[in-house]
Amino acid sequence: MTDRSEETGPAAPGAEAGELPASMLALVKKRDGPGLELEERPTPQPGINDVLIRVHRTGICGTDLHIEAWDAWAARTIRTPRIVGHEFVGRIVAVGSNVTDFAAGDLVSGEGHVVCGRCRHCLAGRRHLCAHTIGLGVERDGAFAEYVVLPMTNVWLHGAGIDEEVAAIFDPFGNAVHTALAFPVLGEDVLISGAGPIGLMATAVVRHAGARHVVVSEPNPVRRRLAEQMGATLTIDPRERDLSDTFAELDMVEGFDVALEMSGQPAALTAAIAAMAHGGGVAILGIPSDEVVLDVNAIVFKMLTVRGIYGREMYETWYKMTVMLQSGLDIRPAITHHFSHRDHAAAFEAARSGDAAKVIMDWRDARGGDEGGPR
Ligand code: NAD
Ligand code: ZN
Repeated sequence: MTDRSEETGPAAPGAEAGELPASMLALVKKRDGPGLELEERPTPQPGINDVLIRVHRTGICGTDLHIEAWDAWAARTIRTPRIVGHEFVGRIVAVGSNVTDFAAGDLVSGEGHVVCGRCRHCLAGRRHLCAHTIGLGVERDGAFAEYVVLPMTNVWLHGAGIDEEVAAIFDPFGNAVHTALAFPVLGEDVLISGAGPIGLMATAVVRHAGARHVVVSEPNPVRRRLAEQMGATLTIDPRERDLSDTFAELDMVEGFDVALEMSGQPAALTAAIAAMAHGGGVAILGIPSDEVVLDVNAIVFKMLTVRGIYGREMYETWYKMTVMLQSGLDIRPAITHHFSHRDHAAAFEAARSGDAAKVIMDWRDARGGDEGGPR
């Protein structure tokens, strides 16, 4: 541990980077293999195009669980040592010399996909399609720390009245919104398979966006109850009830107009395609770990549009998240657990349990004081 007896704590808004503590606490994948360690790391310095953010709260994502457990994907992808985490909210404490759009004190979150800026899609303003994306907390040091540095082009300034806990999960909320708005849902019957944190948030989004019925298919009863709180018309256990079984009950003629696949389970995608109405849209967010056999005949003869969704649109999705919250959308029931960063092991255990939805870690008490402001 570094001796921090000389430190005065994180700088107040307006401070220059030079006045910041030399080191900070961070949750680190120290070496190849399972586990994460809370340890002292040098406070990152912003480059001329960067901002330095004092992290207040972070959300745990499935990606973080993969890295913690060190599965085959993590072993292939992560170079140690690496600070993990990409879902966060915090306040800017310093900006690089080229940065004029942001200032110390701004409440911000970060787009975790750092794009190249130079490829065809980036130059055309379609940055979410960049094929050279670098992931925060995956390929560059992340946000499970007292401080994080991001390029200014990855910073989202929060609008008025956005709850800080909700702000902390704008990244997965953005996955939910990007998928939920992939096809028009006004007046439509929507199927959501998988009521993990993202499926739960998507349930509230399609309800807010005017869907008629929102059927959520989810084997876990705790999550089915949460889906009902988020506005599902009907929830089903896919092991016990076929999707087509719900049509008569809901006065549906042909099948679903829109399906959002948010479980990553091949069987869920197969079932969704079988339950679609002609001309429907299937948005796939879930990432299957196994190969999936698709009924292409059904896709052709029903004339379905099947669309893959990755990340968020920069920054149309972020705008939509903000204005939907400002116009009454409430995703807070999807936040089920809160921990201090010091209890990171318990926080990860809760996130892994399957019964939690979104798990938040608080970084404001990192130095034992209250430098983060009121909750
Ligand atoms: P999660 O694992 O918490 O949720 C998945 C849910 O699906 C679980 O509640 C599980 O019980 C349920 N499920 C399992 N089998 C099912 C079945 N046959 N039918 C219906 N539901 C079933 O995941 P999450 O964090 O909410 O993320 C959802 C998915 O999206 C995951 O596959 C994740 O890897 C993926 N993801 C993709 C992106 C992207 O950019 N494309 C980003 C984040 C997450
Ligand atoms: Zn690019």
